[in-house]
Amino acid sequence: MASGIQIRQMTKRFGDLVAVNAVDLDIDDGEVLCLLGPSGCGKTTTLRMVAGLEDVSEGEICIDGNRVNDISTPERNVAMAFQFYALYPSITVAENLSYPLHAEQISRAEIKARIASVADKLDLTEVLNRYPSQLAEGEKQRVAVGRAIIRKPSCFLFDEPLSRLDIELRQQMRTKVKEVLAGLSKPTVIVTHDQIEALTMADRIAVMRDGKIEQVATPHDIFAAPSNTFVAGFIGTPGMNLIPSVIEGVSERGELKLNIDGQHVVVDVNAGAMNLPVGAKVTLGVRPRFFETVAESSETTLSGKVDIIEPMGAETLFHVLDGTRELRVVMDRTVRFKEGETIHLEFQPKLTHVFDAQGSLVQ
Ligand code: ATP
Repeated sequence: MASGIQIRQMTKRFGDLVAVNAVDLDIDDGEVLCLLGPSGCGKTTTLRMVAGLEDVSEGEICIDGNRVNDISTPERNVAMAFQFYALYPSITVAENLSYPLHAEQISRAEIKARIASVADKLDLTEVLNRYPSQLAEGEKQRVAVGRAIIRKPSCFLFDEPLSRLDIELRQQMRTKVKEVLAGLSKPTVIVTHDQIEALTMADRIAVMRDGKIEQVATPHDIFAAPSNTFVAGFIGTPGMNLIPSVIEGVSERGELKLNIDGQHVVVDVNAGAMNLPVGAKVTLGVRPRFFETVAESSETTLSGKVDIIEPMGAETLFHVLDGTRELRVVMDRTVRFKEGETIHLEFQPKLTHVFDAQGSLVQ
């Protein structure tokens, strides 16, 4: 029997608005998939349809091999946590943990065993008899996670689970939640607009825009090989430089000759494989950390003037003006360019992406 979650051509209309547009997704048992995208792109609606909280306009959802479109939320047996609810203050940690089990026909011995197991996973054994007011913030959050996982659901659905936590707690919880989910062998969908959360917690990330999935891939591939300019610009901080260019030809060594805002630059990417004609408009994608700087300008450099300098601790962010455009260049903090100085940037072959006029990755 098929397991996990399969979503086929799932669409949601609110009147004229297509909030989710023909989404296809497969989430395997034991896999964590993060839905990532800007506000309003349809992440929560997607999750709510899987949970059964929102009707599907078109398409199909299967959980554990069963079509669930017409099955109510309780019968779908999904575990949901929307921003990890507050705990009940008048009952102990153990009682809070076992709360979701009350509706189920489970023996007292089994409930005790499950509390012990969840407490062990989440380092809560020592605080089981305390009340929520007697807990540190991190412990409270772990109890909330415990309450989500104590049942044996068919899948876990989390909506922005960590968004209310401060940065340090968020970091601890990301690691903890990931570790706990890894041992549960169920599919998990996490909605987030926090790319660090997605990059650190997901086995795969689905990037959404305007109701559509733009790319589904591992965190590594989403970062290293974004399939289009939207994903390229959305993932990574500071964002990838997207540099409009026009193809002027191919060098003898097969490199791409480009006109970048009036500068003629030879870029060491495999132009032959791209099959793009002279005059074609392309966009070069380069992450701010992936430029190299050299002392002299040459046919392979793009020159620009340092405009603003932002120290970021171990690194420095330079805003560099190349003609009319601004490039973001991140260098080790020992690199000392001055404001107004002209610097020469070189593209690294494996770390330079080329997108066609439609914004799709060519190489
Ligand atoms: P956010 O990150 O801000 O929560 P999101 O990606 O989760 O955003 P959704 O909440 O899924 O986005 O909303 C997708 C689109 O559907 C938005 O334009 C939203 O205004 C619209 N929408 C959501 N729920 C309804 C509703 N019940 N009725 C009408 N429109 C809705």
